[in-house]
Amino acid sequence: MSTRFVIIGGGPAGNTAATHAARFGAEVTLIERDVIGGAAHLWDCIPSKTMIATGGAIAFTRRIEGMGLEQQEAEVDIDALTDRITNIQGRLKDNTTQLLESQGVTLLRGSARLIGPHEVEVTTAQGTKILPADAVLIATGTSPRIPEWCQPDGERILTTRDCYPPKIFPKSITVIGSGVTGVEFVHMFSSFGADVTLVVSRQQVLPQKDPEVAAVLEDDFLRRGVKLLKGARATSIEREGDDVVVRCDDGRVVRSSHAVLAIGSVPNTEGLGLDAAGVETDRGGYVNINRHCQSNQPHIYAAGDVSGKLPLSSVASMQGRKVAEHVMGLQKIAHRHLDYDKAASAIFTEPEIADVGLAEADAFAVGRKIRVTKVPFSATPKALINNDSRGFVKIISDPATGVVLGGSIVGRHAAELISVIALAVTANLKVTDIVESLLVHPALAEALAEAAE
Ligand SMILES: Cc1cc2nc3c(=O)[nH]c(=O)nc-3n(C[C@H](O)[C@H](O)[C@H](O)COP(=O)(O)OP(=O)(O)OC[C@H]3O[C@@H](n4cnc5c(N)ncnc54)[C@H](O)[C@@H]3O)c2cc1C
Repeated sequence: MSTRFVIIGGGPAGNTAATHAARFGAEVTLIERDVIGGAAHLWDCIPSKTMIATGGAIAFTRRIEGMGLEQQEAEVDIDALTDRITNIQGRLKDNTTQLLESQGVTLLRGSARLIGPHEVEVTTAQGTKILPADAVLIATGTSPRIPEWCQPDGERILTTRDCYPPKIFPKSITVIGSGVTGVEFVHMFSSFGADVTLVVSRQQVLPQKDPEVAAVLEDDFLRRGVKLLKGARATSIEREGDDVVVRCDDGRVVRSSHAVLAIGSVPNTEGLGLDAAGVETDRGGYVNINRHCQSNQPHIYAAGDVSGKLPLSSVASMQGRKVAEHVMGLQKIAHRHLDYDKAASAIFTEPEIADVGLAEADAFAVGRKIRVTKVPFSATPKALINNDSRGFVKIISDPATGVVLGGSIVGRHAAELISVIALAVTANLKVTDIVESLLVHPALAEALAEAAE
């Protein structure tokens, strides 16, 4: 009899695990209460990056001076933008659904919970049924964190999920939280012409990132007129007439037409029956997993954001794939463990920011010897041709062996360019491997080869 594999949640983690496990011969049932593609397609990656692409096009028209073009202010058609987001979401949902169905995955639209270690109860529009399972994957994702001092109303006081579809563009907005999501929202709303204030709890936006990287972004924000409230923590957000008033712990007060919370997430594990199945959680409900993504119950796995590892769609998909291999026993044949320290990530601001592997600060913190080489894009012909020479490429390598350990890129197309360093980090390539690659000229990638010299 084939392995009965039940997956709860159809985001990147769930649907990747389903496709692979079905391909490897499992009998897979995937339960999703909302939309196949998950929060990633509905609220997170896809709508935010679609809006940022439009915002980026507007920002670009403001920089065309000097390219032999006349400056023209682009006007946004909010209905057309909403249609564009909906169309992209629809196409992605159809593609993913077709792929799952073509692999023979049974899709159930409904809400699921564990009622025992080997039983999943599913409530659909047709009623409730119980599915026996040899293996279960919890891939239920997370939801925006709402602090006790603020009650979002979906109209003026927003969570990130209230921003899509874009009903109106705020005249002014206060963004609470200066991590990845917060700075992307600053970029998006300021590109659409809003007056933006960013509440930054530390002294640097993107506190987890390399200070040189954060400095380039702060410069761009200040150039656009974004107000940075550094060293301030929001303590209340309230509506007063047409204003939203944000009060901070240092006494500062910001008034704007809207405010958006970007202060992290909480795992979707409440009501999931983890107790009934004996699954342990910690850090406020995230499922504890080992390197195979198994919970303390070896046949119950968790992948994606609910596992509390790196909250990235790419990581969720890779975890899903690794779970499928493990469920089907393939890890004994050809299986590489997932190394979270080697995950590339990007921030879709202007300029883009991307990094992978070891960071300079982390190396110094543990006293590890590294070689750091940095090349500004201003020395790269293609950046001059593009009329955009902001940013740089930084490569971190082992001084003894030349093996590439990490890197960061700030600048146009950083999210694409980082792939070269990500491949080098994953495959233990040396800086000389990059230097000796015959790259295209003129291309921004030439800065990579120079940084690897
Ligand atoms: C604004 C924003 C932008 C982002 N942009 C990026 C980006 O550009 N790149 C990137 O890599 N990452 C990005 N992320 C992170 C990314 O969205 C997540 O890492 C990714 O969605 C995690 O995938 P997942 O499969 O764990 O969960 P999700 O995508 O959250 O899917 C979980 C699914 O489980 C379903 N579910 C939950 N409980 C049940 C239940 N009981 N029964 C049935 N179904 C259930 C939910 O309906 C949901 O569809 C962004 C996040 C945010 C907030």
